[in-house]
Amino acid sequence: MATLEIRDLHVTVADKEILKGVNLTVKAGEIHAIMGPNGSGKSTLAYAIAGHPKYTVTSGSVTLDGEDVLAMEVDERARAGLFLAMQYPVEVPGVSVSNFMRTAVTAVRGEAPKLRLFSKELKERMAELQMDPAFAQRSVNEGFSGGEKKRHEILQLEMLKPKVAVLDETDSGLDVDALKVVSEGVNRFSAAGETGVLLITHYTRILRYVKPDFVHVFADGHIVAQGGPELADELESEGYEKYTKAGV
Ligand code: ADP
Ligand code: MG
Ligand code: MG
Repeated sequence: MATLEIRDLHVTVADKEILKGVNLTVKAGEIHAIMGPNGSGKSTLAYAIAGHPKYTVTSGSVTLDGEDVLAMEVDERARAGLFLAMQYPVEVPGVSVSNFMRTAVTAVRGEAPKLRLFSKELKERMAELQMDPAFAQRSVNEGFSGGEKKRHEILQLEMLKPKVAVLDETDSGLDVDALKVVSEGVNRFSAAGETGVLLITHYTRILRYVKPDFVHVFADGHIVAQGGPELADELESEGYEKYTKAGV
């Protein structure tokens, strides 16, 4: 069973320590929510796992099924089964959603899918996400609305079937209908049992539709509290104050 293990991870950005010892284990079929105030380092965790060059790991480890993720190039991480959806996804003008997806699928699966099968699969997944078929011909992320960006992320997930998916702020800027579609997508591939999900969010809203197995409260660069879904309910009513005032 796929397991992502983060051990005592310390990360600096521009010479400042942002992550101060993060410990977390995510297994296939589990949904973990990381919740915390703005600026606590949630996105830094996602970027460090992704291998963004601005984020320097000074100590600790990240492994996927025992393999050293931090030693891998960015594209190797994807091939190893990691999927990272970022808060601010990059635009790729001139490259269509369909071509981008086929390239990604080819890289991850190790061989190019037959065009007709690929097109059929893409069409079916898009229909499930209530996406207009014409969307497949648009340039990646160019002028996408918040809802379109997120549907596009979920579409990639369903096509790539990663071992572990890290979704950063998947719920920000979504109207309720889009939030439901995205949540159903997360629930669907989580229920398949082959993907571990790390859902990073500031808001409790998405957790009305996606039930996490574990909730971790993040403050000042590390996890300060852990619990089940009831912890998200507590955060919804009481906010993060208790965790930030405690001088953690
Ligand atoms: P969150 O996602 O929880 O809101 P971030 O990980 O984005 O938090 O940011 C944590 C801290 O790291 C903030 O103080 C932020 O200003 C700083 N930081 C993050 N990325 C950069 C960067 N590229 N350059 C400088 N500072 C950064
Ligand atoms: Mg430490
Ligand atoms: Mg963030």
